[in-house]
Amino acid sequence: MSLSRRALLTAPVLAFPTIAACGVQQRSADPPAPFPADRAPRSGPPRPPGADPSIVTAESVDTASPTGAPADTAHATARSTASATPTRAEIISRYQGVQPTAWGLEVTGVITRLPTRDRVIALTFDACGGPHGSGYDQALIDNLRENGIPATLFLNSRWIDANPRVCRDLAAEPLFEIANHGTVHRPLSVSGRSAYGISGTHDAGEVFDEIAVNRDRIQALVGRPPRFFRAGTAHCDNVATAIVADLGEHVVNFDVNGDAGATFSAGQVTRAALTARPGSIVIAHLNHPEGGTAQGFAKALPQLAAAGYRFVRLSDQIRAAQ
Ligand SMILES: [Zn+2]
Repeated sequence: MSLSRRALLTAPVLAFPTIAACGVQQRSADPPAPFPADRAPRSGPPRPPGADPSIVTAESVDTASPTGAPADTAHATARSTASATPTRAEIISRYQGVQPTAWGLEVTGVITRLPTRDRVIALTFDACGGPHGSGYDQALIDNLRENGIPATLFLNSRWIDANPRVCRDLAAEPLFEIANHGTVHRPLSVSGRSAYGISGTHDAGEVFDEIAVNRDRIQALVGRPPRFFRAGTAHCDNVATAIVADLGEHVVNFDVNGDAGATFSAGQVTRAALTARPGSIVIAHLNHPEGGTAQGFAKALPQLAAAGYRFVRLSDQIRAAQ
C-alpha cells in the first residue's frame, strides 16, 4: 500500500476523530461524535475481497510486509521461527531500530472485514477495564445467549481482574470466542504515539507486554491462546501489528462503529448496526451497561436476521495463521 493510499484511508479518521473504541478517557476528552459520515461510502454493492483496499484478509496478512521493511526481512524472520513463540528479548532484538511508517485504525496487516461476500456479520464487543470501564452489560450478553447469536469478546486484563466470575462464565459459553484486548489498554506503538489522549506503548518490549501478558491471562481462562488482538483505542502502528503477528495473533478492527465507545444512544446504536453489509465486523462494548448498546442491538439484530444475515465469531471466517 502506498503512503498516499494509506493517507487516504486514515485521513477521514484524523479529520473526524470519532470515538470508535474504548475507555472513559476519550469519553471525557472528546464529545460524542455522530456516526462517522466518512465511513458511509462503505454501503452499496458488495465488492469482492481484494477490490476494496480497506479489506485486509488473513491471506493478505500473511503476504504483506507489515513493517514496510525492504525485502520482507521481518516477515522472513517471523517465518523462520514460526514454530516457536518469540520471547520478549527476541522481539526486542528483531525490531530494534525499525521505524513505523503507518498509524491508525486500518494500517497494513489489520483486518477490518471478513474475507467473504456472504451475508455474514461478526459482532465484536470490547471490555476495556480500568476504574471507569469495568462494568458488565448483562442485558447485552443475555440477549445474545437467548437468541443463540455468536460473538467475539475482546477482554482486557483489567476487566478480567474486575470480573472473575463473569469471565469464567463467558469463557465457558460456546457461543463466544474470547480475544485479546491488551494488558493495560494502550494504543499499540513502538514510538509512544497516543490516541484520544491515551499514551501508547513506547517500544517493542512494551508492545510485547501489552500483547503477551493478557494472552497468558486468556490462555489460563480459556485453555488456549487467543487468535485475535485489538489494541486499546484500536490504534496501532505497522511495526506493532507485525509483532502481534509474530506472537501468533491477528489485529482485528472493524468497518462498522456500533456504539462509538459506548457513547451512542440506543437509537444511534441501532442505526449504526443496520449499516452492516456482507462481511462486516462490528465493534461495540460490553463494559458500559449504562449506555445504549444493549437496547440498540436488541432492536437491530432481529432486523439484520430478517434481512438474511447470520452472525459468526471471527474464527468461523478467518483461517488460522500459517
Ligand atoms: Zn477498549
